[in-house]
Amino acid sequence: MRDEVNYSLLAHNTFGIDARCFRFLEYADIEDAQMVAKMLRGIPTPPLIIGGGSNLLLTGDYDSYVVHSAIKGHEVLPADDADHLLLRVGSGEVWDDVVALCVKNGWQGAENLSLIPGEVGASAVQNIGAYGSEASHIIYKVEAVEISTGQLREFKAEDCQYGYRQSRFKTEWKNRFLITHVTYRLSKQTGNLNIEYGNIRAELERRHIDNPTLQQLRDVIIDIRNNKLPDPKVLGNAGSFFMNPVVGREQFEQLLAQYPQMPHYHIDEQHEKIPAGWLIEQAGWKGRSIGPAGVHDRQALVLVNRGGARGADIVYLCQQIQKDVLDRFGIQINPEVNII
Ligand SMILES: Cc1cc2nc3c(=O)[nH]c(=O)nc-3n(C[C@H](O)[C@H](O)[C@H](O)COP(=O)(O)OP(=O)(O)OC[C@H]3O[C@@H](n4cnc5c(N)ncnc54)[C@H](O)[C@@H]3O)c2cc1C
Repeated sequence: MRDEVNYSLLAHNTFGIDARCFRFLEYADIEDAQMVAKMLRGIPTPPLIIGGGSNLLLTGDYDSYVVHSAIKGHEVLPADDADHLLLRVGSGEVWDDVVALCVKNGWQGAENLSLIPGEVGASAVQNIGAYGSEASHIIYKVEAVEISTGQLREFKAEDCQYGYRQSRFKTEWKNRFLITHVTYRLSKQTGNLNIEYGNIRAELERRHIDNPTLQQLRDVIIDIRNNKLPDPKVLGNAGSFFMNPVVGREQFEQLLAQYPQMPHYHIDEQHEKIPAGWLIEQAGWKGRSIGPAGVHDRQALVLVNRGGARGADIVYLCQQIQKDVLDRFGIQINPEVNII
């Protein structure tokens, strides 16, 4: 187990914020996680459990314990039928390495989630999603150490109440469990790949590919993502900063009459979803900056650290954008990123 005091979190958040924590604990196996759980019992402020810190904005030093999983490795296990297999992975593995492993071995199910930053533990907390797929489609089981008892617990996907970027780990189970392993159920039969979302089909056509292999689909998704989203190693960011707001039918009809070009997604009879990126762009923020905190010039939903920004700089920019969007459209947009 790793145990550090007054530790810099710079390498642990993709916004590139140089904040420190009072104590940093890293568990490398289940026994370590149980020891960490014991150390956390009775501390006055809740711990901050982190993966790669790619959905995190640190607004200052964290005066308590920060916990990270360094559990590595994977094992392949038989599934309930001959067409599938189970892949049990340590929570500290990098998510995209898992996707690469699956694609290399011809195991289908994770490919549309290529290049999403972060680690395996968080895939099960965040229910990561992209291009019509989400982690909950392939999560079979989540193993975790319960902080209050040190006991090892196992949850089936059905127990985790997965929804759009949501899970029980983000709500009633928040700060209660240290995830140690996630088991994914993958198909050994490849076919019927999901290529209908975003620009995937157009990009495949451009490359004259009719029936893509898993690897070709992964390559296309990686290229599309690299073109659209800034690489956190080059430009600090946490992906989509805001959630897409859902508005009531009456407000939506009024807005659509005023802005007929406004993109929108049907939720139900009463509600419609509007892309926050469009609202931010219309409010004139795309590509703009306040000091070192900026709005990405290719994707208005992404706030970036142009160099040396503090968490407070990003929060100030966030508030100015929220205010302008509210003034102009009467819509409150809220951060998706975990602001600490
Ligand atoms: C450029 C970019 C693009 C992105 N694109 C997407 C996208 O397409 N789709 C998408 O869904 N997300 C996207 N994201 C957001 C981010 O990648 C995901 O939310 C990811 O799952 C975060 O992983 P992480 O390991 O960095 O977790 P962190 O941000 O460190 O933590 C996320 C949550 O998981 C919890 N957690 C992490 N590890 C553990 C553990 N071992 N035990 C218990 N709890 C744990 C944390 O407490 C926190 O609540 C993007 C981010 C960036 C920077």
